[in-house]
Amino acid sequence: MLNIILLGPPGAGKGTQAARLQAERRMIQLSTGDMLREARASGSPIGEKVKAIMDAGELVSDAIVTALIGERLDTCVDCGAIFDGFPRTRAQAKALDLLLSERGRKLDHVIELAVDEDALVTRITGRFTCAKCGTGYHDSFRPTKVPGVCDVCGSTEFKRRPDDNEQTVRKRMEEYRAKTQPILPYYEERGLVRSVNGMGSVEDVGAAIDAILDGTA
Ligand code: AMP
Repeated sequence: MLNIILLGPPGAGKGTQAARLQAERRMIQLSTGDMLREARASGSPIGEKVKAIMDAGELVSDAIVTALIGERLDTCVDCGAIFDGFPRTRAQAKALDLLLSERGRKLDHVIELAVDEDALVTRITGRFTCAKCGTGYHDSFRPTKVPGVCDVCGSTEFKRRPDDNEQTVRKRMEEYRAKTQPILPYYEERGLVRSVNGMGSVEDVGAAIDAILDGTA
């Protein structure tokens, strides 16, 4: 039962890889970004509270995201866990240690997706998903086969994240550099960090991650 963190700036490919791992292995994807977007869509009090913060590209409070992770971790006690977009601050990293140890789990790897930041803006501002089945696409890199029709479910409705605009993306990167990157040494000291070149294709990045998880890298 592996517990891993995918770490990297917005658009590095964490969500894509986490979703793939969840589909292929007995692991659950714990994405705080997805959980917060769900909270917003359902109109819950938490959703209302985080809306403006997310739209500005800033980080929501450590207490809120840590509580969400704890709840979700308990939905499958014998599944491995892929932390995607969490932890993002040192306080969250410490809170995660506690959440894991309380449940008899331990962190196996922190996989850093190393990417060229300039390319990220293009990656992020072009991405969109099918509104019905959630399949991810990109205007330039992965368009639908038939324009306007989802390859997987045939839906003609798509959505874009409101925070995937250039100005907010720049702010999200700034937050990453200021608050998230500095947690790497916390894990480096424990020998947990492995770096993967995140600029390759989805398949190549996936193969590099698989090799780490399978102990062949
Ligand atoms: P993401 O989908 O991971 O890019 O997250 C989208 C937005 O949700 C971020 O820009 C933050 O506003 C918020 N968010 C997601 N995860 C966290 C976290 N672990 N800590 C604080 N804010 C978060």
